[in-house]
Amino acid sequence: MKRRRPTRPTKAVGRVASHFTREGLPKNAYRTQSEAQSAAQLAWTLNGVDLDTYRCDYCNQWHMGKRWRDD
Ligand SMILES: [Zn+2]
Repeated sequence: MKRRRPTRPTKAVGRVASHFTREGLPKNAYRTQSEAQSAAQLAWTLNGVDLDTYRCDYCNQWHMGKRWRDD
């Protein structure tokens, strides 16, 4: 009898997804939040895109991304 079920942590997939771009490439990572924020500011200045910075559980660095709706 097999009692072991392969548990698939679906949430982890989402977390890792935050580390990669839609193209499947790793996102630019910044060591500090302020580095990420200045990069986000630059993107806003150049492209008018409003980016959020967040700490990545996958690589423990900071990325920028579009603001996520959490509702
Ligand atoms: Zn990451």
